[in-house]
Amino acid sequence: MIPTRPIWAEISRNKLIHNFRLLRRSAGAETETVAVVKANAYGHGLEACARALGEDGARWFAVTCVEEAVALRQALTAPTQAKRTLEWATPRIIALSGVWSGEAEAVIEHGLTPSVWELGHLELLEDAARRCGLGAGGVAVHLEIDTGMSRQGVQPERLEPLLARLEQGSPLRVEAVMTHFHSPDDAEATASQVRQLATAVDTIVRSGIRPELLSAGSSADTLAQSTAAVTELARRIGARRMVRTGISLYGYAPHSGIGAELQPVLAWKARISGLRQIEAGTMVGYGGTFTARRRTRLALLPAGYADGLSRLLSNKGWVLVRGQSAPIAGRVSMDQTMADVTEITGAAVGDEAVLIGEQGGQRVTAADLAELTGTIPYEVLCAIAPRVPRMMVE
Ligand SMILES: *Cc1c(COP(=O)(O)O)cnc(C)c1O
Repeated sequence: MIPTRPIWAEISRNKLIHNFRLLRRSAGAETETVAVVKANAYGHGLEACARALGEDGARWFAVTCVEEAVALRQALTAPTQAKRTLEWATPRIIALSGVWSGEAEAVIEHGLTPSVWELGHLELLEDAARRCGLGAGGVAVHLEIDTGMSRQGVQPERLEPLLARLEQGSPLRVEAVMTHFHSPDDAEATASQVRQLATAVDTIVRSGIRPELLSAGSSADTLAQSTAAVTELARRIGARRMVRTGISLYGYAPHSGIGAELQPVLAWKARISGLRQIEAGTMVGYGGTFTARRRTRLALLPAGYADGLSRLLSNKGWVLVRGQSAPIAGRVSMDQTMADVTEITGAAVGDEAVLIGEQGGQRVTAADLAELTGTIPYEVLCAIAPRVPRMMVE
């Protein structure tokens, strides 16, 4: 059944491509730019976004896990395309969260590239590679180093057993050494992580491994062009720099002061499904947290916290109707929200209400909603529920 509930998200292909090109220009021609499309492309819809980026020349994608990677490979591979041909494993797909038990065969079958940092990852992949009859270096992996974020990645002082395991003859090939910066807006913290990375890279190279890529940096330092030291380090070991850009593909800057040219890709809309007039003193919504101070016109919107509209926006957020802001009145409920349209002449059932996006020169962004709810645009976008249909528009 085609979705008929009047709430949807429009994903602009042109804006996505504009942002991708901006990031590629910022990264420079020598640098490989990975399009991070994890978590359903930050809520924008994995398949459609990856296709559009692929058509614009994206050669690398990154997703969260093997499960997402398999879904992406299936979406990108034409049913007629023969497996195990040279083109088959392109574009390349990185699974950022390692490999869990039961996934290693899928890595090989679908030509995926996992990040690895534990002996357990190596064992799972080696076993699968042998079962599939792959020879030395048959599976490319990205070896992740924990340079200070303390999340995932091997700590530099614990590299030795991994390197011993990856010696000549291993079916695994360290194609890239990767790390992740925790505070890209803090030059000192990042410099310290780069120093840790350099030490780890030296150890790796001394062990005889020659990575082709040095993968470090996300939207923030790509836009700010603040980590030339990593590019230098890559050059010194005969490798190329790789950056992994996510949030800015979708038009948001990870912190203030950068990315002024980015264009938000997603617009979130619903249609007014009911209107009523209430008298002064009437309460609105669960808990009666809003009491009309005057005769008030209320619009009913088919959008609630189950759609990803945060309940923290109750009596705080606003939507756009006829190019004007309509404050949210009362609590956001699971499936519905009321907005005060008293001041909006002509507001009618069927009017488009913009939850995120532009209308009549006004705009409300995921960053606005994030600020009101004490979070970041990443979370606002990822929270838009699967039941909200995504439509690609120009
Ligand atoms: C999410 C993620 C990125 C992308 O970060 P953005 O800030 O969205 O650009 C890059 N690398 C890793 C390891 C990630 O988890």
